[in-house]
Amino acid sequence: MALANRLALVCAALPIACAGEGGPAPTWTARALQREILLGEPQWAIEANGSAPIEVAMATPSPALRADKHSLPALLLGPGGEVSFGLDVEGASRWRLVGALGADGAAWDQLDAEPELALVLEVLVDGELRAARRLRGGDDRTWRPLADEPAPPVALAASGSSRDRGPLGGLRVDAGAEVRLRCTLEGAAAIDQPPPRGAFARLAWVEERELPEQQASPARPNVVLIVVDTLRADHVGAYGHDRPTTPRIDRLAARGTLFEQTYATSSWTWPSTASIFTGRTSAAHGVTSSLSSYLHGELETLAEALAFGGLRTAAFAGNPLIVPQQNFDQGFETFRHTTAGEMLDADVLVPEAMEWVGAHAGSRFFLYLHLVDPHEPHEWLPRAEQLFPGQKPRGYPPGGMVSLRARALRGASTFDAEGNSRLAAAISPEQLAWALTTYDRAIWTADRWIGDLLDRLGELGLTDSTLVAVTSDHGEEFLDHGALLHGHTLYEEVVRVPLVIAGPGVGSGRRLPEPVSNRDLAATLCDLAGVPFGGDGVDLFAPRSPSPPTFANSAGHWHDRQQIRQVGAREGRWTLIHAINGSAWGAPPLPLDQADPARTALFDVLADPAQTVDLSGEQPEVTAALLDELLRAETADALRVLPTLGSAGADTLAMLRELGYLDADE
Ligand SMILES: [Zn+2]
Repeated sequence: MALANRLALVCAALPIACAGEGGPAPTWTARALQREILLGEPQWAIEANGSAPIEVAMATPSPALRADKHSLPALLLGPGGEVSFGLDVEGASRWRLVGALGADGAAWDQLDAEPELALVLEVLVDGELRAARRLRGGDDRTWRPLADEPAPPVALAASGSSRDRGPLGGLRVDAGAEVRLRCTLEGAAAIDQPPPRGAFARLAWVEERELPEQQASPARPNVVLIVVDTLRADHVGAYGHDRPTTPRIDRLAARGTLFEQTYATSSWTWPSTASIFTGRTSAAHGVTSSLSSYLHGELETLAEALAFGGLRTAAFAGNPLIVPQQNFDQGFETFRHTTAGEMLDADVLVPEAMEWVGAHAGSRFFLYLHLVDPHEPHEWLPRAEQLFPGQKPRGYPPGGMVSLRARALRGASTFDAEGNSRLAAAISPEQLAWALTTYDRAIWTADRWIGDLLDRLGELGLTDSTLVAVTSDHGEEFLDHGALLHGHTLYEEVVRVPLVIAGPGVGSGRRLPEPVSNRDLAATLCDLAGVPFGGDGVDLFAPRSPSPPTFANSAGHWHDRQQIRQVGAREGRWTLIHAINGSAWGAPPLPLDQADPARTALFDVLADPAQTVDLSGEQPEVTAALLDELLRAETADALRVLPTLGSAGADTLAMLRELGYLDADE
């Protein structure tokens, strides 16, 4: 153990003695992304000077098709262009201008062709040159972050290239300062039209607060939030699964509180995780599709609230959708994520998370762990094969259900003209049984790693001073209603998820039966931690009359039709699902301009948990009332969305296809 770790542990055990020794308590810098400059309110917006046209658009700093994982919202400025904006704030905080400099991808054709040309981007603060980049043909084409100094060395070991520090670095700027961005072209005797343009990307103001280092106690606990991606509630032991997939989550539930009927806000990762971070429904945060996947910087996130509440923050996220490029790193000091579109399993993430926890055991902290083991493709620890035996059927593809589905459909829709599932016809019972076996093996593997993390917290003496919450972003379909994977429908198998909370202030061994939404986790954890939260949601432990859990799916992620939005709600015994503009429930797909009238289905999920009988015809009043309430809430939420730009390029779309979210023609 490093000396620093040992000292931290001693301090954790002896908080009073340490606090009394040697001068003021150490401080650290909490950061929160507060103002989007390119996408924000008019007062943050830009005044243009000069004659060069300016544009705010998604920009890729390279013409190469496979480089667009770097596409970011950017201000595009032609030679001679100059813009300015101010930092109009009050208070004791410090501020940083964050962003990145590069060339608009299209500029490289001209820069490559004319070796004497150089595109120069400059950032001046109150007239002083603070950052510049000179771009010529043949140069490195990636974004270069704005920074007063080189990024600080990363303390953790292993694969450092993918441990992006998010919106750190940046330029320190005083309140009231004026920022000027300038673009010039050197060596141009005669330039082609249109001229090459510089790109000032992802410009935003980050607020910094110098805060005293806190120590965790039962009254001021640490917070650990674990999202097990793709974990449907009925495959968790504590929720009645008949295989022992989750002994550690079950034990956590026994010493904490389990919410028996919990809903995610969507059936796939982006909208659902954005809800867990902000408390907003997907309609209200707007992260609803591959074309709208940027978590707006002005939304308060759980990590930002806890950071400003004094907790050191780190995320270890294995899903390639949960990345800084989409702004999911807001409020995190450390943000471990993937860069190549691949899933990072628990065997990589959890040891790193435990190392971080060990290094921060003397501080009060928030750890976010996003495990993806139950997400296809499944991998597992060898022990899982003894617990959940089975034989892989001949010809079962290495890509699992993603490949099975693609092979069975070959570009066709899931349902044929008679409403029969092509997947149900093409996939054998042996293949389906094997998919369920590998799913349970992967769940057990994630649970084992969660157990290792909980054991580590115990070894560090932190169990009684740490809140631990476990949930999921969505479930998984195994032909329950004719489909496979997730993101396609809103049935229980994809929107019902586990939710367990344990730790100080949480009752032990409780099971709460009311339907709840896990978007209320952020407000709940902040309340338990004694930290104010500026996002949406209610404390799940407070006396309340909760609004019904709602869930939605949006454009591009329902394989039968593109750009279809479905919404749903749970109230009392009823679950309602409504396709706003699509042909649902087994109907053949139609072109959008011939879309069917909206479709609605109503299920009594207490009497019919498998949702086999649509009661909307028998219960017209219940259906009409629930639908009216749902659509009113959706409409009100949609009015609150902050504007962003479309943000998925070809690379992201290719990745979504690989993960089974999109079909080949989407
Ligand atoms: Zn997911």
